[in-house]
Amino acid sequence: TVRTRIAPSPTGDPHVGTAYIALFNLCFARQHGGQFILRIEDTDQVRSTPESEQAILDSLRWLGLDWDEGPDKGGDFGPYRQSERKDIYVKYAQQLIDSGHAFHCYRTPEELDELRNARREAGGFAALKPSELKLSDDEVAKRKAAGMPYVIRMNVPEGEGPCPVDDMLRGTIELDWGQVDAQILLKSDGMPTYHLANVVDDHLMGITHVLRGEEWINSAPKHKLLYEYFGWDMPQLCHLPLLRNPDKSKLSKRKNPTSILYYKKMGYLPEALLNYLGRMGWSMPDESEKFSLQQMMDNFDVQRVSLGGPIFDVEKLSWLNSLWIREDLTQEQLADRLQEWMFNRDSLMAVLPHAQTRMHTLSDFAPLTSFLASGQLPLTVASFDEVKLDAEQLKQVLQFALWRLEALRSWTRDDIFAELKTLAGQMDIKLKDFLAPLFIAIAGTTASFSVMDSMVLLGPDMSRARLRHALH
Ligand code: ATP
Ligand code: GLU
Repeated sequence: TVRTRIAPSPTGDPHVGTAYIALFNLCFARQHGGQFILRIEDTDQVRSTPESEQAILDSLRWLGLDWDEGPDKGGDFGPYRQSERKDIYVKYAQQLIDSGHAFHCYRTPEELDELRNARREAGGFAALKPSELKLSDDEVAKRKAAGMPYVIRMNVPEGEGPCPVDDMLRGTIELDWGQVDAQILLKSDGMPTYHLANVVDDHLMGITHVLRGEEWINSAPKHKLLYEYFGWDMPQLCHLPLLRNPDKSKLSKRKNPTSILYYKKMGYLPEALLNYLGRMGWSMPDESEKFSLQQMMDNFDVQRVSLGGPIFDVEKLSWLNSLWIREDLTQEQLADRLQEWMFNRDSLMAVLPHAQTRMHTLSDFAPLTSFLASGQLPLTVASFDEVKLDAEQLKQVLQFALWRLEALRSWTRDDIFAELKTLAGQMDIKLKDFLAPLFIAIAGTTASFSVMDSMVLLGPDMSRARLRHALH
């Protein structure tokens, strides 16, 4: 039977790209009466967080992309979280060592730099080959005896030459072995890299078709080799085109909100977002613009995916969303949606600690918090009149703050505050004056609760979108 999977890494906010890939995997599985699996690829222990994993599960479920097996559901092929499968990867890495397809590499970071520099000076590719990395048996024994850290790397062909890879959409593509390095499979801390864990798990979980982003095409030769080394059948590969900004560059949070949470907070309906993602590179046989998940599953044909980069255009999404609101919801249903969106208990409970002390009557609640429920704020130049900065400084504060917050990985009140305080110091502006324009960009007024609290409530994508909006 057909088995597909989505394999997100829980290292940030749930990405619309993840939902897009999940949607196509789900449709492909359902079309063939197969199963769709959710696997969490959390081998990067520094960047992975349980909060991010939870947000990914919640977002996919909110969209209606339901999986048959996963970390929350179990299944016959678990555990479905890679951090719980360490022993499995160690065992398979050892198997490759025993069969001569992998080797212990004791090279130090300094030696690796030297090797790469030598390569570059000789005008070659940066891909390091086993012959360059391997040390003499004596040297290996010496370093081993000294307890030096090592990694396990895979053997790869030394020279250049074509590596054919079959892709369901592209037919046979030819990649170059010259670009393929002796990939690390197991890190010195015993954790696998993506390549080893992904191949081992796809095999053990019985995955038959891998539909994933185009960004992984260059990894295909390594994966193909690993399947050969293990003597396993390789799943069929299908690399889907990446989502793009309207300017054709790869969709990125610097230009466009990418978090599913943003779209939820903006009040898009899950069925409209899903519908729009279904139109990314794909269309219904009758070219209809509005279709449900069920309709997409019923009509799915992966060969109808077109390879031109699909453009994720928020304006088109808004238009589609308006159709769903107007045509598919009764007023009763719309009332339910609004109630759930505006007054669900969790978001109310998150806001009340900031609102309660400022309320004389219940009617104070709406004006106090309306900025949290609106999309973009109607700002004009006059909105910033009370700010004690000149126009140039004002712009710099907004721009520099935006850049800092784009790079910030942990979206907590303390971390946001630390970042902004440092920046205010560097710009030599009093903290109060520095924060004023941010208050206005985020909440429309300085008479609101703390701008850091507001940013936490709005989330990173919405906060950044507001700063960007204020700059224009
Ligand atoms: P950004 O450039 O905005 O930081 P990113 O590439 O760092 O984005 P990741 O956090 O690495 O995003 O990716 C999260 C998930 O979303 C990955 O599974 C990745 O494949 C997917 N993804 C990221 N960008 C796109 C895209 N443009 N189209 C489709 N999927 C994407
Ligand atoms: N963990 C990878 C990602 O997040 C999975 C890629 C794949 O599907 O093989 O993109």
